[in-house]
Amino acid sequence: MHCPFCSADDTKVIDSRLVAEGVQVRRRRECLSCKERFTTYEVAELLMPRVIKSDDTREPFDENKLRAGLLRALEKRPVGIEQIEGAISNIQHQLRATGEREITSRMIGERVMTQLRELDEVAYVRFASVYRSFQDLSEFRAELDRLENNLPELGKG
Ligand SMILES: [Zn+2]
Repeated sequence: MHCPFCSADDTKVIDSRLVAEGVQVRRRRECLSCKERFTTYEVAELLMPRVIKSDDTREPFDENKLRAGLLRALEKRPVGIEQIEGAISNIQHQLRATGEREITSRMIGERVMTQLRELDEVAYVRFASVYRSFQDLSEFRAELDRLENNLPELGKG
């Protein structure tokens, strides 16, 4: 690790501890040349599957896009940012847990709907109506029926 102050090659770790409930390692380092100290954070990089879009092209998974979609659906709804971030990490966890290297954007949409339905029904219907308008309309109606009848388990696949 190069020193950010003088770019020297040699820095040494003077302290190392787990932070953020053990998912990060915080390291205190000291430059052997200029003696400046700085901190680095280390996290495991967990690869997200790539996304297969409806036109069959592939793109990298984009957490910001996911967040933007959720925020749009939850606009002016009484849901806090911590709950939204929680939903985002749930979705990412579920997608990773599939073990697939590629997943369809539809699978992501289904996971988003499941999370939204738990957070806020209005946001769920908003998202579902936009999302489903690109799909099959009768399918959307079936989803709404299911919502009204309060049946569990939406979109398992
Ligand atoms: Zn230095």
